[in-house]
Amino acid sequence: MKVIMLGTGTSVGVPMIGCVCNVCKSTNPKNKRFRSSVYIELNQHLFIIDTTPDFRLQCLQNNISNVDAVLYTHTHTDHINGIDELRVMNILHKKAIPIYATKETLLEIRKRFDYIFAPNPKSWVPQLIEHELKEENNILGEKILAIDVEHAQDIITAFRMRDFAYITDASGIPARSIPLLKNLEVLIINSLAEKPHAKHFSLQQALDAIDMLKPQRAYLTHLSHQFDFDELSKRLPNNIFVSYDGLHIEVD
Ligand SMILES: [Zn+2]
Ligand SMILES: [Zn+2]
Ligand SMILES: [Zn+2]
Repeated sequence: MKVIMLGTGTSVGVPMIGCVCNVCKSTNPKNKRFRSSVYIELNQHLFIIDTTPDFRLQCLQNNISNVDAVLYTHTHTDHINGIDELRVMNILHKKAIPIYATKETLLEIRKRFDYIFAPNPKSWVPQLIEHELKEENNILGEKILAIDVEHAQDIITAFRMRDFAYITDASGIPARSIPLLKNLEVLIINSLAEKPHAKHFSLQQALDAIDMLKPQRAYLTHLSHQFDFDELSKRLPNNIFVSYDGLHIEVD
């Protein structure tokens, strides 16, 4: 399995518009963060988790021109607003694209992008086929778990494929989800900032979650401009890494 980090930034991205902090002004490419998303190649199938407002540039920078299925974590703008860019892939490959999300997330996507799902849509809208996620799913022959995590008062979706899991925007992991996230080779998990935040794990909370789940390796994502790549990297244990846009991760 090959994973590419398409974006590793929080909702406003890094640099943030108008900010002159050291990280936003940094020339280190590892401090430039698109909104959070991953691309996964598994058994010759291509998956994307979330279509961010940066989705077009993320595809261009990583030579991605096809996707077999899109998985959605939740409907915050930074995770879905690139949905229209999928129509180029419809045109290129002459196929509709299946999207997978929980019932609540699909309803909200339908509401926010009603023109896509209208009975007689205009020809320029993406062609998407909705699929409702259950806890355990067979998607293109792969067993994919949709795992509940807390995002403040909301329940959103984390995903597990084999021994890889992706958790974004979590502020807590309910007890029922913990067994589903054990024995991982690679865990990607959100870490917003140094200080606790109502909706997202802080660095210490992310480290505590990693300590509880004990993956072989963990990568931090959904990072704000509070974190300089080099400075944060030096502070982490050997098996925990700061992710950056364009990072390739191999999973056995
Ligand atoms: Zn987010
Ligand atoms: Zn800044
Ligand atoms: Zn969110």
